[in-house]
Amino acid sequence: MKSNKDVTIVGAGPGGLTAAINLAKNGYDVNLYEQNNTVGLRFNGDFQGLENWSDEEDTLDILKRIGISTNFLCYPYYGSNGFFVGPKRQKIMVKSSRPLFYLVERGSRESVKEGSLDQSLRKQAEDLGVNIYWNQKLESVNNRATIIGTGPKAADAIAKGMVFKTSNENIFIGFLNNKIAPRAYAYLLVNNGKATFATCMFEDFRNEKLYYDRALVELNSAIEIDINEPKEFGGFVNYFNEPKISKDNRILYVGENAGFQDALWGFGIKYAMLSGYYAAQSIIHKLNYFELCKKHLIPKLQVSLANRWLFAHLYNTGYNLILNKMKSMDDAIPALRKHYNTSLSKRLIYPIAQRWYKTRLIDKQCMHEHCDCVWCRHGKLAHAVEENC
Ligand SMILES: Cc1cc2nc3c(=O)[nH]c(=O)nc-3n(C[C@H](O)[C@H](O)[C@H](O)COP(=O)(O)OP(=O)(O)OC[C@H]3O[C@@H](n4cnc5c(N)ncnc54)[C@H](O)[C@@H]3O)c2cc1C
Repeated sequence: MKSNKDVTIVGAGPGGLTAAINLAKNGYDVNLYEQNNTVGLRFNGDFQGLENWSDEEDTLDILKRIGISTNFLCYPYYGSNGFFVGPKRQKIMVKSSRPLFYLVERGSRESVKEGSLDQSLRKQAEDLGVNIYWNQKLESVNNRATIIGTGPKAADAIAKGMVFKTSNENIFIGFLNNKIAPRAYAYLLVNNGKATFATCMFEDFRNEKLYYDRALVELNSAIEIDINEPKEFGGFVNYFNEPKISKDNRILYVGENAGFQDALWGFGIKYAMLSGYYAAQSIIHKLNYFELCKKHLIPKLQVSLANRWLFAHLYNTGYNLILNKMKSMDDAIPALRKHYNTSLSKRLIYPIAQRWYKTRLIDKQCMHEHCDCVWCRHGKLAHAVEENC
């Protein structure tokens, strides 16, 4: 017999686990189903960044506020810890009053001291008594409260890269150049002897090897770095999903699966965790998840789509202009925040971007409303059964 305090969660990514942690802290019995035998298997021990520019509040304070302990590798990178390389190979350093981002490791590596984000969230959830059922690929649900956080449904942008060992000092480098990363960027992240280098692309996926080879040439021209024990990896991100959040508060979609992804550059971790947090809050405090997302997440998401449209029309000339502008700033954070938040110009550009990406914005899995996909179908069925009882 299920109690009112039972919650089912599908997918042990940052979205699902953040929801699980918050629910368990509030006395809920959480059953979490994960298709793999551990967390983070879609990643490769690669470094990613928790962006720290889009909110007034520092990202670490946000994590604390949403009940997450930062006992994982979470290393601050200020503007002075690296540089950007433009299409003309010019090196641009930006100043920042606080970390631009916090470097985290993704994947399944466990460590006594500082491990991956995924393993840390898993441990936090397990310590709170969340039951995680491994190797369980769930394709339907019929519980009262269900959270779906199953990650991307389609590859709207891809990344090709490598992780390696190096003796180089800690550094980040961001590359803006359509010849190596069409409509996107390439990046190097080095932390305590380990490094991640990758190039991302929004189009022309067929030529990923060509772009990757060119990106390596750019890397070697930007920095002299020893590359030891390289392991190649590939990954994909689902940028183009308009958030489809069911208004009836029964099945709560979180993270990338719900369309929560920064359409500009793919910084989706914070969105995943915040949406997991709001899903938990809606269950705990009987609030409407749709309204919470509308207030806290969707405005920024819409700006990110407007930004994507703008960025995709900049080309290399535009990248040069932007980098030069950033170089002259005393602090890049306020400018970045301004661009990541709602303004009149972004409100005007948003409908243009929506039309531009219309075909790509169609949800690849389901529309959640009036939809017949496995999740929605079973959710509705359960709803109907309960109402008839
Ligand atoms: C190469 C690469 C680099 C990135 N870099 C950054 C970065 O620097 N900063 C940033 O913020 N974001 C970055 N992202 C994006 C970020 O990783 C994602 O947005 C984030 O992980 C989404 O979290 P999630 O919880 O929604 O989904 P996921 O992390 O994908 O987790 C979903 C989980 O659900 C499980 N699952 C799926 N289907 C089922 C099922 N039917 N039943 C049970 N379990 C299921 C999966 O196995 C997985 O464990 C990057 C992504 C890639 C690929």
